[in-house]
Amino acid sequence: MQNHPENLLLPEERVLSTLEADGSRRYLYPRLSKGKFWHMRRWVGYALIAFFVALPLVHINGHPAVLLNIAHREFHLFGATFLPTDTRFLALFMLSVFLAVFLFTSLLGRVWCGWGCPQTVYLEFVFRPIERLWLGVSGKGGRPKVNAAWRRAGMYLTYIALCFALAHVFLAYFVGWADLKNWMFQSPWEHPWPFVVMGIVTVAMFFDFAYWREQMCIIGCPYGRFQSVLLDRDSLIVSYDAKRGEPRGKAKKATQAALAPEGLALKILPESAQPRVASAASSRGDCIDCTMCVQVCPTGIDIRDGLQIECVNCTQCIDACDSIMDKVGKPRGLIRYSSQSVLGGEERHVVRPRVIIYATALCFVVSLLSFLLATRASLDMVVMRGAATPSIVLDDGSVQNTLRVRLANRLETDRTVRIEAVLADATHQFKAGESIAIYPSEFTLKPGETRMESLRVVAPRNVFANQRARVSVRAIEGDETLRMRTFVLLGPAR
Ligand code: SF4
Ligand code: SF4
Repeated sequence: MQNHPENLLLPEERVLSTLEADGSRRYLYPRLSKGKFWHMRRWVGYALIAFFVALPLVHINGHPAVLLNIAHREFHLFGATFLPTDTRFLALFMLSVFLAVFLFTSLLGRVWCGWGCPQTVYLEFVFRPIERLWLGVSGKGGRPKVNAAWRRAGMYLTYIALCFALAHVFLAYFVGWADLKNWMFQSPWEHPWPFVVMGIVTVAMFFDFAYWREQMCIIGCPYGRFQSVLLDRDSLIVSYDAKRGEPRGKAKKATQAALAPEGLALKILPESAQPRVASAASSRGDCIDCTMCVQVCPTGIDIRDGLQIECVNCTQCIDACDSIMDKVGKPRGLIRYSSQSVLGGEERHVVRPRVIIYATALCFVVSLLSFLLATRASLDMVVMRGAATPSIVLDDGSVQNTLRVRLANRLETDRTVRIEAVLADATHQFKAGESIAIYPSEFTLKPGETRMESLRVVAPRNVFANQRARVSVRAIEGDETLRMRTFVLLGPAR
């Protein structure tokens, strides 16, 4: 059976701010309120866009400020180079990011969502202005004034061109600007995979900014959900002061007396109506129920319903309500940055146990990360067992093991490294002419190079006890031992 609207059981109230009663998407056209916060957010947004674009272009210590070169397994972040062997740095870095999110969210709420997130910044300060430019906005509600097909086509073409450019910036984070610039002047057939990635990113961005929009914040972004559950009563949030605003009521009826010069309104009313209007005006709160705060909301919610998961703290409702308060001659701040504790009449505690715990843990992890970064070795070595037969007995009776060694040079210069294996049991007496030999044993590494080598380790049979011999594998440059790893060689059964 077809789902005609008359066959549907309609909900008693709106379930989601972006869903119509019949379940279809409610497409939002938020009005723009150019208040104090909007001006500040706009300049922060432009600065962030410049920052996001500059990161792969600006060089620090000879490398892009951010380059996540997955193909070469090299990651450059603000002058530091990380290799796949640096898992402990990555783990500590991720831990510090999580702790920072915990700390800043418990203090400042979803300030990242409203001020710093690329989704908000690009949508509100790039794509929506383009939409308003092409389609215009009607006097109320921010809906398109003109809906001509050619205007929509022009808008979407502008979107595609922008997404295409932004996809190039995105790709530069992974391949570097130098490679990207070369590819831009070549046929796509010469670099098909990067071209495909760029195409997919363009389409994904277009889908996001042209259609998906606030749905990314409401249902798509795990970070948004994560932040919402980290709030407590003392976190800073955009909130409506219900004590001051309620009971809400239309300005026309409620504030004839309040808006007019003193005494004037009462004079022009019939005498019988004066006490009734005066008492209605005095019993009403400051909210005149103009719904401007709802009309400007990019996620379609009504902040007067209290703290909601959809609120991205964009501050548009603050700007809108402040402008209304100015017009009706009431103090600003009916909607403002506040906390649930303050709105409930309590004192806001900035320093509280969770803030202390997060801050302490963050300081510890960042200090540890900084220390490890400052003292990390200039060469990394990982020793693994070879994939082939672990050990074989050679014609002369000695035992050969196959190892895989990964060497990573962190210096910006070439270097030659020698690999040696020394028996861990220093008391063992080698016979004359006996030793543990490695083939090949010397490697020249380029600046920043990571290399995997297969080595043969040949040891006399008498070093094995219970089919095992513990050795110390060393990477040596000149006379200096740079790295040392313990490894167990496997020997033959008796
Ligand atoms: S903008 Fe302010 S006055 Fe208007 S409905 Fe919202 S809270 Fe009330
Ligand atoms: S409720 Fe206010 S701060 Fe929250 S998303 Fe809507 S307009 Fe922005």
